[in-house]
Amino acid sequence: MFEVSVEYHFDAAHYLRGYQGKCEKVHGHRFRVMATVKTKKLDNLGMGYDFTELKRHLREVIDSFDHVCLNDLPAFQERNPSSENIAVTIYQELQPLLGKLNLAWVEVWESPESHVRYIPDR
Ligand SMILES: [Zn+2]
Repeated sequence: MFEVSVEYHFDAAHYLRGYQGKCEKVHGHRFRVMATVKTKKLDNLGMGYDFTELKRHLREVIDSFDHVCLNDLPAFQERNPSSENIAVTIYQELQPLLGKLNLAWVEVWESPESHVRYIPDR
């Protein structure tokens, strides 16, 4: 089994509705996002999945998150743009772009010390 990961980032503002503390106020992060696919097979070049392709798809998904207030996006009208919900949203938008490939998880880093990993229940 191989795990193939790429990382990208975006800069965005957000605030957490209902949170008691400083995160209820608008503030910004450089969010780092890591997407990992799992594959048993290698292609005839010896690659599990092309990093360039995976990165292109990840960028495609997270470009709409860059330099916006995440709370304004349709995905976060009902749910808070917490790192957890950002990870789920990226997962749900990225997996269909990968065809039969198994997107294992998506990680979202809100700071160098804090991150979440979303792994769907199978
Ligand atoms: Zn925050």
